[in-house]
Order: sequence, then structure tokens, then C-alpha cells
Amino acid sequence: MTRFAYVNGRYLPHTQACVHIEDRGFQFGDAIYEVWAVRAGQLMDADGHFGRLERSLAELRIRNPRSRAGYRLLIAELLRRNRIRDGLVYLQISRGQARRDHAFPPANTPPTIVLTAKPLNMAAAHRRAETGVGVITTPDQRWGRCDIKTVNLLPNILAKQAALEAGAAEAWLIDAGGQVTEGSSTNAWIVTADGILVTRQADHGILHGITRAAVMRCAAELGYRVEERSFSVEEALSAREAFMTSATSFVTPIVAIDGRTVANGAPGSVAVALRAAYLDHV
Ligand code: PMP
Repeated sequence: MTRFAYVNGRYLPHTQACVHIEDRGFQFGDAIYEVWAVRAGQLMDADGHFGRLERSLAELRIRNPRSRAGYRLLIAELLRRNRIRDGLVYLQISRGQARRDHAFPPANTPPTIVLTAKPLNMAAAHRRAETGVGVITTPDQRWGRCDIKTVNLLPNILAKQAALEAGAAEAWLIDAGGQVTEGSSTNAWIVTADGILVTRQADHGILHGITRAAVMRCAAELGYRVEERSFSVEEALSAREAFMTSATSFVTPIVAIDGRTVANGAPGSVAVALRAAYLDHV
């Protein structure tokens, strides 16, 4: 079956879909993106991700080329063409194609829109959550606006690669003060000995995860207390549980940090309950 992508108004076979060499996303990383999980044909947390998309564009003063309804139509058609019921949708919007110059191009330059979709192996994702995963820690080398979802992911991919080479699933990024900011593509959480959930405050130092926000609502419904503050690796190692959240991993228990086990090395009950509640809620 041919896989399709959407680029600037056209659905094309994935292998033939491309942007111009002077696209500002390619030249400068002058682009933002969003990722939705798709379950049973529905976008999960759709409006949360659209809200963040609009905010990322506004922060960078990239014109938003479509309404939410417009994006939904494009995405529905892409999912239909790719026959995806459970999977992921990736949307990237760049400042467009223009003669290479650091300054913004003329205001009438149309932004580039790229959409791709791929199936997600839900069974494999659930298996990972059942055993839990390990993380490594590495310095956070990113810029000062990690709340904007830009395609500038070089520090993130280097951190993720280091994690995989160390046999771990994720890298926790550590700021200059020795505190965990977030994972390379996930938000970081712990559960203290007193049963309080802790995740870093949503400032400019982290991406404001849509799953993070949804899990905070689930936690409140389940009666857990949540504190938004930073925590150190030492605190995480003495925590009762650790876990990560993202649109693609949902809630995934973390059972080891830099090869040292968290609690008894098995997924914790809070993470398991939150994963179920989150999947139920969306
Ligand atoms: N932090 C970073 C750096 C990410 O790339 C992601 C994934 N987009 C997340 C956190 C999780 O965000 P979300 O729950 O919106 O997927």
C-alpha cells in the first residue's frame, strides 16, 4: 500500500514528498511542529495540541496558515489515505520558502505545511509500559525557550541517541542547577515517599506537554496531590516512583536512572493507575 504525505496543498506518495532546498525549516530550523496520537481514528487531546501549535506559531511570528477545522480536514484525509486507525500524525509548519537570508522573508511568503502519518504498534507500547523503562541523565544543552515546539532538536536527538546506546529508553536533561528539566521527548515525573506527584513547573525551560496537562487533570480526579516544581536526580532516586509522559508514550513507568533502580525496580501503582486513567480519559 502506498504511504501518503501532505505538502503545501497536495497529497503525494511519501517517497516523492519534499520541500524546496530554500525552505526555512531546512535552512534555519525556522519551523514548529506538533504530534498527535491517533486511537480508533480519533486525534487524542486534539485541542490541547492545536492550542500549543497556535502558541508556538504566535511566539515565533509565523503566520498560521489554517484554522483548526482546516487542519482537521487535512489530517482526516491523510489518515483515510493511509488507512490509519491507531498511529501518529506529525504536522510541521515553517516560515516558508524564500531566498536565504536570516531576516524574516516578505510577509506574503506562504508558510510551508507538511503532514505525515504512521501507524503505531499499540501492543509494543503497552509491553514497554508493563516492564517500565530506564533513563540516563545528561546535561540540558538547549536554548532558553524550550516551551516553543520548534524543530531545533539537535540537543534532544543527541541525548536520545546517548540513551539508546546506553541501553535506556530516554534521557533526562539536567539543568545548570542539577535539576531535571524533562526528557528528550517526554516530560519527567516522580512520586515522593509521601505519595505527592512532582513535575517541573511549566516555565520556559520545558515543553508544556499536552499529556502532562491531561495527566495532571487525571491525577486530580484520582485524588493525588501534584506539585509543580523542579527535582534533582537524587530526589528521583529516593522517590517511590518515576515516570514520563508524552503523546506517543502516554504514561510510561521509569524503573532505573543511570542504571540505579527506582524503588523496587518495578512499575509503580500511581503510574499504572494514571496510564489507565489517561487512556480512558482521552
Ligand atoms: N518534552 C519534549 C522535549 C517533547 O519533545 C515532548 C513530545 N512532544 C514532550 C515533552 C511531551 O509533550 P506531549 O505530551 O505534548 O507529547
